[in-house]
Amino acid sequence: MAQLVRQCKRLDDLEAIAIAELLDGIQLQLPDMASLLAVETPEDHDGQQMLQEAQQHLFQQTLSLHARLDQQQQELQLLRQRQDELEMLSRRDALTGLANRAWLEEQLQLQLRFAFCRQHQRTMSIAFIDIDHFKQLNDKYGHQVGDKVLERFGALLSSMAREGDLPGRYGGEEFLLVLPDEQASGTCTLVERLIKHLEAEPILLIDGDPLCISISVGIACLCDGDFADIRELIDVADQCMYRIKRSGRSGLAIYKA
Ligand code: GH3
Ligand code: MG
Ligand code: MG
Repeated sequence: MAQLVRQCKRLDDLEAIAIAELLDGIQLQLPDMASLLAVETPEDHDGQQMLQEAQQHLFQQTLSLHARLDQQQQELQLLRQRQDELEMLSRRDALTGLANRAWLEEQLQLQLRFAFCRQHQRTMSIAFIDIDHFKQLNDKYGHQVGDKVLERFGALLSSMAREGDLPGRYGGEEFLLVLPDEQASGTCTLVERLIKHLEAEPILLIDGDPLCISISVGIACLCDGDFADIRELIDVADQCMYRIKRSGRSGLAIYKA
């Protein structure tokens, strides 16, 4: 028995063949030990066959573990994909598909863009856009038409923005267009094109009748003032927009220090 225990302790190092020998040895010694202890011996076992069965079992276990691992990796990938999709959704305004206010502010506010522009003598402009008399439009044609107008306007704004620009819906019928590396004059050109387009083309046809809208826009450029943070830049663009509202709507105003 002592010899057997010693052999078992070394099992880790043993080759399969040595384990078979060990099992055979045990089998041989079993009758003597059984009669010594006055117990019955179990049936004889073929050590070789037991080992083969054990290996087969191990092989199948490995296969099923691999299959589970594959499945878990696929599930993990699906979860990551879903997380990306949810993150994208949380950044978008559901109606227009544009960046929503939270994402706009995060992008700007991060202070990083702001600080980055300051540090590297780069600039950026903001156009604060408000659709004129939108409440009247809602009251006259209904909320669904109002929604459609917002959707169409969002698409138009998006199509006019260049790569790198960030168009977004700031709230209600208010939109923001962020133009990195752009001065007020360049922003003005783009907004003028937008205003002209809205004058020339109906945003929607209602029973074949054209429905046109106009916008009031305030433009502010980082290089035209000493802004403490991005909030101040948005605020002055908003104030410029209100100047246009007070002077009769439909048009643009540029912030000057
Ligand atoms: P102003 O020319 O001074 O900007 O007037 P306005 O009517 O456009 O502005 P006001 O702030 O008085 O009204 C905005 C309206 O926009 C009121 C609100 O019901 C409507 N609105 C806000 N969000 C939505 C929306 O998601 N869908 C629709 N259909 N209407 C909305
Ligand atoms: Mg408004
Ligand atoms: Mg409005």
